Amino acid sequence: MTGGRDFAGPNQAPGTIYRRLGVEPIVNGRSTFTILGGSLMPPEVVEAMRQASECFVDLLELQDAVGRRLAAVTRNEAAFVCGGAAAGLFLAAAACMASETADGVLRPEEMAGLRREFVVHQAHRIPYDLSIELAGGRLVEIGGPAGTDESELEAALDSSTAAILYVPKAHLAPAVLPLDTVIRIGRARRVPVVVDAAAQLPPAENLWRFTRAGADLVLFSGGKALCGPASSGLIVGSSVYVERLARNAAPLQRLGRPMKAGKEDLIGLLAAVEWYLAQDHSALAARYDSVVDHFLAWGHTRVDVTVTREELGEAGQPTPRARIQLRSPARGARDEVLVELRSTPPRIDLLPDAADAFYIAPETLVAGQEALVTGRLDELLDRRAG
Ligand SMILES: *Cc1c(COP(=O)(O)O)cnc(C)c1O
Repeated sequence: MTGGRDFAGPNQAPGTIYRRLGVEPIVNGRSTFTILGGSLMPPEVVEAMRQASECFVDLLELQDAVGRRLAAVTRNEAAFVCGGAAAGLFLAAAACMASETADGVLRPEEMAGLRREFVVHQAHRIPYDLSIELAGGRLVEIGGPAGTDESELEAALDSSTAAILYVPKAHLAPAVLPLDTVIRIGRARRVPVVVDAAAQLPPAENLWRFTRAGADLVLFSGGKALCGPASSGLIVGSSVYVERLARNAAPLQRLGRPMKAGKEDLIGLLAAVEWYLAQDHSALAARYDSVVDHFLAWGHTRVDVTVTREELGEAGQPTPRARIQLRSPARGARDEVLVELRSTPPRIDLLPDAADAFYIAPETLVAGQEALVTGRLDELLDRRAG
């Protein structure tokens, strides 16, 4: 039997440490959501973090060394580890806004005189862009759901522009300008481009694709596909921007200080990136296919559901998932099924769709859990039919 993940810890009864507190663990078929814990760290990452916890180290020296190693393995000029991609957005905003301060450091008392506007496609507004406002930035929207014209971007760029924020999710492409166009226009006006690619892995090439295309800073979550610490984020980009960003980050007592990454996070994320790049991604894709196939085959055994394969994952990345549509459902039936799955052990969390459907994502299921999910679904659906 295959699940999305084939590593299990040495602990034969995972979850005991949570149950001891009365917190029942969750089977995650939703994907790498922070609210569910992000992802599961492979043993290599856990072991690296354990070793990192064994002695003291100069954190600035470590940041520098980890950054250099990460830059090399991700084929970038520079890299930095922060406390999550949302922290990365904060630091990227600080680095862009502080470009005209004497020492590249963002200070509240100097904020008024700085370029503070971040131009963003309406389709790229994300809950996490609050981090930019937290840094003192202001979001300026361009475009609409039906598309965006180059002239709208041109017109939005002026002497108050700090940067352009771009979120490269494949399913949003029809509403926005291509990244290459945004970079060309940004370059011509000397405006940096920040790419929030937090959930844009796979493919692994994205670790260098956006910077090669000319983006100044690119952010990835450490706790999503990279399977690193949930409290880590990877920033890659040009040396000028990464160095300025570091000047605003922990452990320095600057505005980024509340979003620190500790020595275990730094070493853990480095181990995770090395682990991720060493994976056989076609084997991983084949495993995801087989999990989706399991749900498709299960669908053929039931008259009350239609199961289809979706090619894109929740964040628009090329990771397939199964879509389960209830046939002629009673009002509210889908939500009752999802609530029951979520509340009774083994608790299973799945992502609802707009209609009477829901999704099952393979990448966060542990080997064998797909059978557990279809077993529970059989029980619940039979009872409803019964
Ligand atoms: C998940 C996500 C974030 C936040 O990432 P963290 O590492 O959890 O801070 C930011 N932006 C986008 C687009 C995301 O999908």
